Amino acid sequence: MNYHSKSPAELRDIRDDLRVKYRELQAAGLKLDITRGKPSPEQLDLSNGLLHLPGDEFRGPSGIDCRNYGGVSGLPELSEVFAPLFGIDPANLIAAGNSSLDLMNDLTVFGLLHGPVGAEKPWSSGPVKFLCPVPGYDRHFGVTESYGIEMIPVPMRPDGPDVDVCTELVARDPSIKGMWLVPTYSNPTGVTVSDEVARGLVSMAAADDFRIYWDNAYAVHTLVDEPPQPLRILELAAEAGHPDRVYALGSTSKITFAGAGVAFLGASKANLDWFVKYLSLKTIGPDKINQLRHLQFFPDTESVRAHMARHREILAPKFQLVLDILDDRLASSKIASWTRPEGGYFISVDVLDGTAARTVALAKDAGIALTAAGATFPYGRDPNDENIRIAPSYPGTDELTVAMDGFATCALLAATEVLLS
Ligand code: PLP
Repeated sequence: MNYHSKSPAELRDIRDDLRVKYRELQAAGLKLDITRGKPSPEQLDLSNGLLHLPGDEFRGPSGIDCRNYGGVSGLPELSEVFAPLFGIDPANLIAAGNSSLDLMNDLTVFGLLHGPVGAEKPWSSGPVKFLCPVPGYDRHFGVTESYGIEMIPVPMRPDGPDVDVCTELVARDPSIKGMWLVPTYSNPTGVTVSDEVARGLVSMAAADDFRIYWDNAYAVHTLVDEPPQPLRILELAAEAGHPDRVYALGSTSKITFAGAGVAFLGASKANLDWFVKYLSLKTIGPDKINQLRHLQFFPDTESVRAHMARHREILAPKFQLVLDILDDRLASSKIASWTRPEGGYFISVDVLDGTAARTVALAKDAGIALTAAGATFPYGRDPNDENIRIAPSYPGTDELTVAMDGFATCALLAATEVLLS
C-alpha cells in the first residue's frame, strides 16, 4: 500500500489505525535504546580472556618492561599483528591509548596549534574548514565543531565521497585543511570506499597541509564471507605525490573492549615523527600492559579475523532482524529507504522528507530512544530532515524487535501526518 497513491480519505483511515497502534505502544511503558553503536554484553564476553592477562608476564617480546614509562609509539609487535588489517606497513603504525577518537582530537589540536607537516603556519592562524561526507559520524563533527572549524557537507555515494565535488572544493579554497572519512563500512551508511575514489582523494590538488582522516573504525567488522581487502592508502597517497596527506586510524574498541581497547595511528614517517613529538609532551607513554594483554590475546593477524567471525555470528542475526522488520513494515508504503550494510555497526534509514525529527520525537514519547534526528550531519542539520541511524548491536533480539516495530509505527504515522498536511 503505497502511501503516495492513496486518497486523502484512505490516508486518514491509515493514520487513524496507526494512532491506535501508537497509543498501544505508549501504553506498553517501554524503555528501549537503539541510539549508539555499542557492542552487546555477549560480544564483550568474547574478549573476557583479556581480563586474566597478561598474568605474571610484564615484558614485551623484545624485552621492554611494560610496567614502566616509555615506549610512546607502543609495542611494535602489536602494530605487526594489526598492520595487515589496516593495509599499512607495520613501520608506519603506532599503537596508542584506548581511543582512536582521542587520536583524531589530538591530530586536530596539534594541527591547529602547531601546523601539520608541510604547513607554513598553524591551522589556527586563519580560517579552517573540513569536508564532511554526509551522512557521517556525529562525533567527528563534534570534534571539528568544538574548535570552530567550518564543516562543509559533501555527498556520500555508494563507492565513497563524491570525488568531483571534493576536488573542486579543495582546488578553490586552500583553507580546507581536512576531511573526515570512514573508508570501510562507513558510519552510518555502510559504504566502503573504492580503489578509484581513494586514488582520486589522495591525488586532488589541495593545500599542502590538507589531511584526510581515514578513520578505519570498521576495517574488520564484516557481516559477509568476502570482505573488501584493505586499501593500502598510505602507499596510494605516496604514489600520488602526497605522502603526508593521510592519517589512518583504527582501534580495537569493537573488537575487544569498547572502553579498554587499543587505538592505532598509521601515517607517513614524517607525520608520525611530528605527532609523536607533540604526543610525548602530553604523555610519557601509552598503557603498555593493556597492549601486552592484547598481544597475548591476538598472537597473530589471523587470530583477530577468527575473533571477528565470532562477533559476526552475534551481529548478523540482529542486522537481519532489523532489515526483516523494515521490509515487512515499511517497504510497501514507499515512505522510506534503508541501507543493507555488509559490515559495520549501523543501518541508515531515510524516512519521508521532513519526518525524521517527528519520528524520533514520537519514538521518544513511546519510550524508544533513537539517535537524534540530524546527528549524522554537521551542526545537527539534516537539510531534508530524513536520515535516522539505527544501531542494532546492543539490545537483545526481543528488545530489538519491539524497538524496530515501534520505530516503524512512528515513521509511518509521521509520514501520514505530513502527507495529509
Ligand atoms: N570512528 C568511528 C567511525 C566510530 O563509529 C567510532 C565509534 O562509534 C569511533 C571512531 C570511536 O572509536 P574509539 O572507541 O577508538 O575512540
